[in-house]
Amino acid sequence: MLEAGLRNTIRDWLSSTGRVVIMTHTNPDGDAIGSCLALALALKKKGMDTQVLIPDGLPDFLRWLPGIELSTTFVYKKDKGIGLIERADLIFCLDFNDPDRLNDLKEHLFGSNAKKILIDHHEDPVPFADITLSEPWRGSVGEMVFLFLREVFEEDLIDKDVATNLYVAIMTDTGNFSYASSYPEIFYIVGELMKYDLEKDMIFSRVYDSFSEDRMRLLGYCIQKKMVVLPRYHTAYISITDEELKQFKHRKGDTEGFVNIPFSVKGVSFTALFVEKKDRIKVSFRSRGSFPVNRIASEHYQGGGHINAAGGDSFLSMEETLNQFESLLPAYEALLSES
Ligand code: 5GP
Ligand code: MN
Repeated sequence: MLEAGLRNTIRDWLSSTGRVVIMTHTNPDGDAIGSCLALALALKKKGMDTQVLIPDGLPDFLRWLPGIELSTTFVYKKDKGIGLIERADLIFCLDFNDPDRLNDLKEHLFGSNAKKILIDHHEDPVPFADITLSEPWRGSVGEMVFLFLREVFEEDLIDKDVATNLYVAIMTDTGNFSYASSYPEIFYIVGELMKYDLEKDMIFSRVYDSFSEDRMRLLGYCIQKKMVVLPRYHTAYISITDEELKQFKHRKGDTEGFVNIPFSVKGVSFTALFVEKKDRIKVSFRSRGSFPVNRIASEHYQGGGHINAAGGDSFLSMEETLNQFESLLPAYEALLSES
């Protein structure tokens, strides 16, 4: 992943570093948190004072991860977070290509004199870091952190806890290897991780079988009452209002994965999920095949992402948002039927 010159620069920076902060994107997912904690645990083994800073709340299904005590949530502990950034001499940014995805953390990152290293797999990263490691063809940043640790350090800093975090990162960002993972190296990396006594089945269960009864019933309700299938456009979507979330005692992370559910309907290759938030509607897109959902996200929802997984925001009402979404589809009909 690293050519020799870059590797030596990173080695120099790390050897003269006292305090490291690792940060990731808003609404963090398994790749974001798993990659950050893996890197943090590994750097701690080298004696570096390392902390993870996340803009906002952690979903419950990630709270069990080894090293989670190294993380600080900026919206809840602003002063601590600002202090960490002010004292850091090296900042890693993981799993985002645009500092806007840091929310309020962004201005503090920009105000810091620390060296900055971005490790990411989204297309076209904004050039804000001193070193940008960008591999958009990869399914996860977890793989990149694995290679980074192998290439930068002579000794093996990976252990069972680091491997567990990396596996969660890779497993979640590939939908348990159902997309973004059709290349040999990802399985080489997983094979290497297995050597650290990785409890693969336990990890799957802790991530995917850990939801509340309310979440399961919310999912059932969404499928029964809220899923709209548009066969002509190979499209299906689900929308959820704030009222409905309250009715099912919503907790952060509960709607994670809902966007993938309509793919079970034969012929659907493009899905969308609309979730009402306080000030906007959070939009998630997924596709199978060649339909570029990041194009839809950036052209119409001030967002972005990958070809098969992207997101953005709508500032219209839910009804207007859904009408507007349906009105976009005819323009993409040809692309949708090819995909
Ligand atoms: P999700 O639908 O799980 O929230 O996001 C899927 C992917 O879409 C993320 O990994 C990220 O790459 C991208 N994404 C989601 N929301 C946004 C957004 O608001 N802005 C940008 N640039 N990308 C987003
Ligand atoms: Mn990712």
